[in-house]
Amino acid sequence: MCEILKTEAITTDSLMITIALILYSLSLITQAGTAFFAFLLAKKSPSPFKWGWIFLGIGLFLMLGRRISPIASILETSHFNLLDSILSLLISTALLIGVIGIHRLMSRINSDNDLLIALSQIDPLTKCLSRTESLYKLSNEIKRSFRSKNHLSILEIDIDRFKLINDEHGHAIGDEVLCSLTRSIKNLLRVNDHLGRIGGEEFIVILPETNQESASIIAERIRKEIEQTTNFAQTSNRPVRLTISIGIATLIPIDSIYSIDSLGISLLKQADDAMYRAKNNGRNQIAL
Ligand code: GH3
Ligand code: MG
Ligand code: MG
Repeated sequence: MCEILKTEAITTDSLMITIALILYSLSLITQAGTAFFAFLLAKKSPSPFKWGWIFLGIGLFLMLGRRISPIASILETSHFNLLDSILSLLISTALLIGVIGIHRLMSRINSDNDLLIALSQIDPLTKCLSRTESLYKLSNEIKRSFRSKNHLSILEIDIDRFKLINDEHGHAIGDEVLCSLTRSIKNLLRVNDHLGRIGGEEFIVILPETNQESASIIAERIRKEIEQTTNFAQTSNRPVRLTISIGIATLIPIDSIYSIDSLGISLLKQADDAMYRAKNNGRNQIAL
């Protein structure tokens, strides 16, 4: 009888030892996987996040000792603590879920950031540069103009009587006209030129390495192309034609006491004044 009880106790003990060993091993594998995942994320992440993942990976890697020592102790002494092995697996699983959660959160923040950057740089309707990005590009081009000593010109383009187009054809057609106009202007520009929407129906064209004479030729080419286009809205049942007025301003990069920002503002003001002169002289024309 005593022998049977002893054999049963030994069998139960070895079963418990096996369970504890399995739980510790699972915990070890889970945590090693989590540490590896953290190092993998460190490799893929940009600088500020990289170090966070590296330190997390190191911490998880060093903690593997805590998972290995109970396994070694069981194998050496056959002493085990079932509760500790359960806790060990729970902790490793919680760490894995936590790392996956942080990774998901950071991916979401990154894609939201990309979207915000795109929204601040690109005009959502016409897909040309936004006002903010246009002014940023202008200040960069002013700096480049001073470095290379090349002239820089800008065109301010305003659609003539655009309110009438909205009134006659509706706002949706008005939007379509803005998009086709943007495409038409883009087709006439060089790769280094920039086109931005700085107001409702006002655009800026930045022409690097362009003097006043060349800027006038480009402006006149744009004006003519728009005047000759027979329909700016394919979805309209009546063709939509339009004309534009263009103001031109040129920066001559001689030594100046003004800051880049004031030069940008002054250049825009000159182009704006010229554009209003074109309007006052009867529209559908360019003015210097
Ligand atoms: P002007 O020749 O003097 O420039 O006349 P205009 O009618 O073009 O100028 P005004 O400034 O009086 O009107 C501009 C119009 O542009 C008013 C507004 O309804 C329209 N507009 C501004 N932004 C948008 C837009 O995003 N979509 C559409 N469809 N219309 C817009
Ligand atoms: Mg207008
Ligand atoms: Mg306007």
